[in-house]
Amino acid sequence: MSDFDVDLFVIGGGSGGVRAARIAAGHGAKVMIAEEYRFGGTCVIRGCVPKKLFVYASRFTDEFEDAAGYGWSLAKASFDWPTLVRNKDAEIARLERIYRTNLERAGVELVDSRAVIEDPHTVRLLKTGARVRARTILVATGGYPVKEPAIPGVDLAITSNEAFHLEELPRRIIVVGAGYIAVEFAGIFAGLGVQTTLVHRGDKLLRGFDEDLREGLTEAYARRGIKLALSRTITRIDRGGEELVATLDDGSRLAADQIMIATGRRPNTANLGLEAAGVRMNGNGAVFVDGASRSSVPSIYAVGDVTDRVNLTPVAIREGHAFADSLFGGRPTSVDHSLIPTAVFSTPEIGTVGLTESEARERCDVVVYRSAFRTMKATLSGRDERMMMKILVDGASDKVVGVHILGEGAAEMIQLVGIAVTMGATKADFDRTMALHPTAAEELVTMR
Ligand code: FAD
Ligand code: NDP
Repeated sequence: MSDFDVDLFVIGGGSGGVRAARIAAGHGAKVMIAEEYRFGGTCVIRGCVPKKLFVYASRFTDEFEDAAGYGWSLAKASFDWPTLVRNKDAEIARLERIYRTNLERAGVELVDSRAVIEDPHTVRLLKTGARVRARTILVATGGYPVKEPAIPGVDLAITSNEAFHLEELPRRIIVVGAGYIAVEFAGIFAGLGVQTTLVHRGDKLLRGFDEDLREGLTEAYARRGIKLALSRTITRIDRGGEELVATLDDGSRLAADQIMIATGRRPNTANLGLEAAGVRMNGNGAVFVDGASRSSVPSIYAVGDVTDRVNLTPVAIREGHAFADSLFGGRPTSVDHSLIPTAVFSTPEIGTVGLTESEARERCDVVVYRSAFRTMKATLSGRDERMMMKILVDGASDKVVGVHILGEGAAEMIQLVGIAVTMGATKADFDRTMALHPTAAEELVTMR
């Protein structure tokens, strides 16, 4: 210990960094963690958590419509954006305090400062200029939203970062992109009554997801009144008085109060001192790591979005935990990135685990079970709300290799289906599971 001030210096107080710091301290390591913005990181401060609160807010519209079918009469509903933002901010501040307290209780030293790497064992804190000598450095700096394509006027647009703090709810918004963030925010804004247009260079939403999910969601969004400008790119943005005007590649012009760019995120590695320390990165700026999250420099590790493996909070947490157990707990632990349940909190929602149908077809003789039906809850109101469920089975082994759900509750369902699939469940295991009636999920065990 004598040569070093700490056993572990963690750069970045988000999902991966916080977990690694706490677990390493719990194993007896002397740990310091630096955060340049707010402890909790992207997920807690401007990602999963505030997003999900906004999603809840946006879904009341459907609830109100259904309520009428069940005999409720409600005064005309009205929505106040500043109240939502204020209440969300209070909750985020509460969670941030919990993150700080949990770190302190674990014995971790917290530093509110940007930190950069000077050499394989030295970190400099920009706030004070202090240098800290660390036996091991963990880079857990996450990512940031890119504003691409880099078209004229793109600076007039917002990203998800700003979407959480808009002073006013826009009357009209254009969302560019069709990945997780674009799709989730288009659903949020549309649910809150904003005229929403989604501009995407492809012909369907959510590239990489199962085709039935992509088609189902694309149709559902059109049904919900979200205007879809597909196979289109945005070529410039201009300010026209109070409004913004987007020009598309077909020459058409769309006016809106806000334009949100959601065309991906990039690892936060600029000016971090990584190149000088000899850390290898890929073309995207992601830290290149091995299966143990170790970089090309033996004393420097990296976890989470900065490594651009699977950019989800539970994955960053698992990587941080495994790193700490392996290095400080004497328990070498690896992370399996192969079967990760994931959800898109669109409305309707998507839950998915395992292979898509086209991936499964490449690997095995796949048997497809598919069911589509109207949701029971919406029947009395007549709301056009459907569900789709799909199970992909390897015909040779009977193993379930993929499950895809579109509709209410999909995220909650897929978390549990994920256990069965991780355990290697067969279609016969699904079939012998007794159905629970009346639920939507019972379809998963009754499809024949
Ligand atoms: P982060 O959580 O980004 O933490 C990195 C931290 O490092 C940040 O706090 C940053 O300020 C700090 N930092 C950076 N550089 C320095 C430096 N030099 N010195 C000090 N501090 C530094 N994932 C899900 O699983 N489910 C979801 O529903 C979901 N929704 C999302 C919604 C949005 C809008 C976004 C943007 C992301 C969402 N994600 C979701 C992804 C999830 O937020 C990330 O995968 C996760 O936060 C990654 O954790 P991390 O620890 O790698 O990085
Ligand atoms: P994604 O990578 O998921 O999607 C990016 C979208 O932008 C794609 O539709 C892509 O189109 C499009 N795009 C990329 N570059 C351009 C360009 N130059 N011009 C036009 N369109 C472009 O990124 P997100 O920002 O949506 O999300 C980042 C990550 O955060 C996600 O991948 C996910 O890991 C995580 N996340 C997870 C959530 C969850 O778990 N629910 C929620 C939010 C984020 P194309 O398909 O053609 O490439």
